[in-house]
Amino acid sequence: MKRLPTLLAFASASFATSQVAAQQAPDLTRLLDASGVSGRVAEISWSASGEMFDPAQTIVSGARSRHITSYGVDSRWQPGDQTDYSWSLNIHYPFPSLYTYDESMDGTGGGTIDGSDGFRPSAQGALPAARVGARAKFLVMTMPALLLAASSGANAIPGQPNSFRFDALGAEWRIHVANGRLTRLSTTENDPLFGTVESTIHYSDWRDVDGIAVPAKLDYRVDGQLIQQEQRESIELTLAARGRGFDLSPNLNDHDFARGWNMAHWFLRRIALGGPADTDQSYPVEFLEVGQGVHQVLGSSHHTLVIETDNGLIIVDAPLYPSRSVAILEALDERWPNRPVHHVILTHHHYDHSGGATAYAAEGIPLIVHSTNAGFFASLLANQGLDAAPITGVGARLALSVDGVELELHDIPTSHVAGMLMVYLPEQRLVFNSDLYSPGRETQNQLWASELQQAVRFLDLDIDVHVGAHGRGPGTAGELSQVVAGN
Ligand SMILES: [Zn+2]
Repeated sequence: MKRLPTLLAFASASFATSQVAAQQAPDLTRLLDASGVSGRVAEISWSASGEMFDPAQTIVSGARSRHITSYGVDSRWQPGDQTDYSWSLNIHYPFPSLYTYDESMDGTGGGTIDGSDGFRPSAQGALPAARVGARAKFLVMTMPALLLAASSGANAIPGQPNSFRFDALGAEWRIHVANGRLTRLSTTENDPLFGTVESTIHYSDWRDVDGIAVPAKLDYRVDGQLIQQEQRESIELTLAARGRGFDLSPNLNDHDFARGWNMAHWFLRRIALGGPADTDQSYPVEFLEVGQGVHQVLGSSHHTLVIETDNGLIIVDAPLYPSRSVAILEALDERWPNRPVHHVILTHHHYDHSGGATAYAAEGIPLIVHSTNAGFFASLLANQGLDAAPITGVGARLALSVDGVELELHDIPTSHVAGMLMVYLPEQRLVFNSDLYSPGRETQNQLWASELQQAVRFLDLDIDVHVGAHGRGPGTAGELSQVVAGN
């Protein structure tokens, strides 16, 4: 009787050992590098074409990613040193347009850009460090042999057959092998709205390039949602007698590079929309009065509206990321001390206008959203332990009387998104919209502007002042007509 537990312990220990032995890391290295040369790669170059998709810009919250861009790129990477890209972006959404430009990045986190990369004034000359960080992240994920060569070996993940983990370049990576092939590589990233997310590249169409297995087809997903598909052709390697090796840890000590690296999926999607957001837009926070006690919050590419009530404040939209919301809350407290925020109204679920919502929810401030999106926001707050903040869903219309201020929320049918709310202040005949019409901005979308115009006519609203989540300052119904007419 006494010997039985010992025998069992011995049996289970040897079972565990043999399981680990069956999944040793050297098999993995051989899988990717038949001739042991991946540490000696001096240069790798290729041409690729691809498609970009954005799960942040869906018509319906939680729906399939929206196709935003087709692209072609010629690339040359010297690990540890220079990377050059020549881009051609054919953007379908939000503003159909073609951009061609070149980017060069050095091994120290710096770089330069030549050409126009979007509808906002482009980065000129110096490439922002966040973009270099985001590009570097994607780059190393697409070349698993080189990434593995930068690690000190992989270990089996207990309980997950054919799965291994390794540390390299300051991050943890997880890989999965099936039928003698590496099928995918994952790592953890940050998302402003969802918190921790899993970024995964799925590999296929393997090519043998000078003894190194290189995937030619890449499928990039974040929490299972499609971001990018890329097909690489004419992949060429140049080997050196000794490899340079590469180490990004000095760059990762830089705040902006690390932001790009840790939120690569977010930065890469902003670039693919033709609206790069490489610099940290948390600050400054500036108030522009657009009506009596109504303020457009400027200082970033996406604006919040602040409506003063007798004893508090109402906020419309929570753009970009939580650090922007924190900066706005600080500025509100400074300008209107002891006036609480009664509500945060979100016009729609697109993450560039709602990515800062969790910072308000963390303060317990109630959210008002379109009823279409109430479940979406409730579950994402619950996933982050923020389910204490109440959420109100609005259908076709909601009239609110808050602390001396009357406001109406209206559903606006638009091809931009399902579940779009517009905020109307009847006493001031002022309306605030997101993305449909942006007074004071050169780039407009004629279709969405006309949908807004038709909706306010249908609702029979008297409007003197239009204010946008983009642009600057107030606009008029006449100016909206000009946009709709294409002038
Ligand atoms: Zn939008």
